[in-house]
Amino acid sequence: IIVSDQVETADLSERPFRVITSSGKRYETEALIIATGAQARWLGLPSEERFRGFGVSACATCDGIFFIRKHVVVVGGGNTAAEEALFLSKYASKVTLVHRGASLRAEKILQQRLFNDTKIEVVWEHVVDEVLGNEEPALSVEGIRLRHARTGAVQNLPADGLFVAIGHSPSVRVFGDQLRQKPGGYIWVEPGSTRTSVPGVFAAGDVSDDVYRQAVTAAGLGCMAAIEAERFLAHPHS
Ligand SMILES: Cc1cc2nc3c(=O)[nH]c(=O)nc-3n(C[C@H](O)[C@H](O)[C@H](O)COP(=O)(O)OP(=O)(O)OC[C@H]3O[C@@H](n4cnc5c(N)ncnc54)[C@H](O)[C@@H]3O)c2cc1C
Repeated sequence: IIVSDQVETADLSERPFRVITSSGKRYETEALIIATGAQARWLGLPSEERFRGFGVSACATCDGIFFIRKHVVVVGGGNTAAEEALFLSKYASKVTLVHRGASLRAEKILQQRLFNDTKIEVVWEHVVDEVLGNEEPALSVEGIRLRHARTGAVQNLPADGLFVAIGHSPSVRVFGDQLRQKPGGYIWVEPGSTRTSVPGVFAAGDVSDDVYRQAVTAAGLGCMAAIEAERFLAHPHS
C-alpha cells in the first residue's frame, strides 16, 4: 500500500523501529528503507525561483542538453561547480563560472581541467544578485546581474541560463544522529550495499548517494534495498 504522509520522527534505537507521521499515525517495522532524497541548495533569490525550470537549473546532467551553443553561467566554487562547468562546456558555446572567492575549493585536477578549457571563463569575487529575463511570450533567462563581493559594484552579464552548483542537502533531519553519516550528511552505507550502520535500516537513492544523484541510480539502489530488506526479514540474525 502507498500512504501519503510526512515522517516526523523515527526511533531506530531498537527493533521494531517506530515511525510517527505528521498525521499522527504510528508504524512499527522490523525493516526500514530510507529514500528521502536530497535537495539542491539554491541561492534564495525570488528571480531564481521564478525562472527555475525555465533557464535556471541545479543539474547540468539533466538540463545541459537544452543549452547547445548557448552561454550559461554556473555559480559555485567547489567540485560540483567545476564538474558542472566542465560538463556544460561540451554543449554550450561559453560557460562563465561565477565564484564569490578569489580561489576555488575544487580539487586541483578539476581546476586544471577547468582553466585549460577555452570555453570556460571564471569571474572571481562576484555573487549572483539577480536572474534577469522575460515573462512574455514565455519565461526565459536573458542575463545575470552580478555583484562584486567586496565593492558591491553591479554588472549585467548576458546569458541564456544559470546553473546553481552550491551543493545538495540530503533529507535526513528526522533520523538525527541515529545513523552513521558521510561528509555532507549523506547516510553512510556499506560499500556495494544499501545497509546502513543500523541492522535492518537500508538507505537508497540520493539520500545516500553523493556522487551520481540520478533517477536511474536511485531506482537501482531502491531495487537493491528492497532485496536486502527482504533477505534481512527472512534471516534477521544472520
Ligand atoms: C530538475 C531536475 C531534473 C532532473 N533530471 C534528471 C534526469 O533527466 N535524469 C536523471 O536520471 N535524474 C534526474 N534528476 C535527478 C533525479 O530526480 C533524482 O536523482 C531522483 O529523483 C532521486 O530519487 P530519490 O528517490 O532518491 O529521491 P527523490 O526523488 O527526491 O524522492 C524523495 C521523496 O521523499 C520524500 N520525503 C523526504 N522526506 C520525507 C519525510 N520525512 N517523510 C515522507 N517523505 C519524505 C520527498 O517528498 C520525495 O517525494 C533530476 C533532478 C532535478 C531536480
